[in-house]
Amino acid sequence: MYQTTIKKSVELVGIGLHKGSPVKLKLEPLEANSGIVFYRCDVDVSIPLLPENVVDTRMATVIGKGEYVISTIEHLLSAVYAYGIDNLKITVDADEVPVMDGSSASYCMLLDEAEVIELAAPKKIMRIKKEIEVKEGEKYVKLSPSKDLNYDFTIKFPHPVIQEQAYVLHFTKESYKREISRARTFGFLHEVQYLRSKGLALGGSLENAIVLDEKKILNPEGLRFPDEFVRHKILDAIGDMSLIGMNFIGNYEAFAGSHDLNHKLTLALLADAENYEVIEVVGEAMPELEKAYA
Ligand SMILES: [Zn+2]
Repeated sequence: MYQTTIKKSVELVGIGLHKGSPVKLKLEPLEANSGIVFYRCDVDVSIPLLPENVVDTRMATVIGKGEYVISTIEHLLSAVYAYGIDNLKITVDADEVPVMDGSSASYCMLLDEAEVIELAAPKKIMRIKKEIEVKEGEKYVKLSPSKDLNYDFTIKFPHPVIQEQAYVLHFTKESYKREISRARTFGFLHEVQYLRSKGLALGGSLENAIVLDEKKILNPEGLRFPDEFVRHKILDAIGDMSLIGMNFIGNYEAFAGSHDLNHKLTLALLADAENYEVIEVVGEAMPELEKAYA
């Protein structure tokens, strides 16, 4: 198995969630062993995707260098990671990534257009060797060894439309596209109103999120899946796991997980070299993995 990048540069323009103004996004190929690198062309600052460059995880995943940040990177990264892309330059002309429809479906389409190609260097995969758990109260996120890759997520919200939802994704690029990529982010009306009062989420609308009041969904089109909420949490988790810098094999499990817990999980994983091993996949040593990212 080989490292990958994209065949050709692609771009799109979309509204940024926080400022509500258009952001131009461009994806370009990078050579082997470059990793995922963000670039803000408006201020000429590069920010490699590394856990230590994460500066905020309260509402979205934000990376930064000095005073310069890029916010809401998780949905784009979810698609990039699910496509098994190892090397990519991501350029934006503002401090956030376009929110599109609140899912990663637009990014999947963009990557399909860009075409994933192999480079002449073996792909690195992280194999989880031990159970690693981050727990806060009853909430937890956990990694454990497995011969393949699964995401098992449960959420519980005291809201009549959500309640308890659980979903298990047996990961392949195709199952991701079919079951996860179209699931939108969600928020509650009172939160949206609060954010607006702080001058945030100015681009937020029913076009890019599921919005709920106390009793119901406000979006006239309804849900894309009855369990769209928990599917989106898996979309987020996949994006957050991209911070470890390579694809991994193992089981990911969460109860009421969040960007913050996922970030702590990646730090806990990387903190002890006994937790994992990095394998360079030569030839067809891992046919299952080959199939997953085909
Ligand atoms: Zn999200």
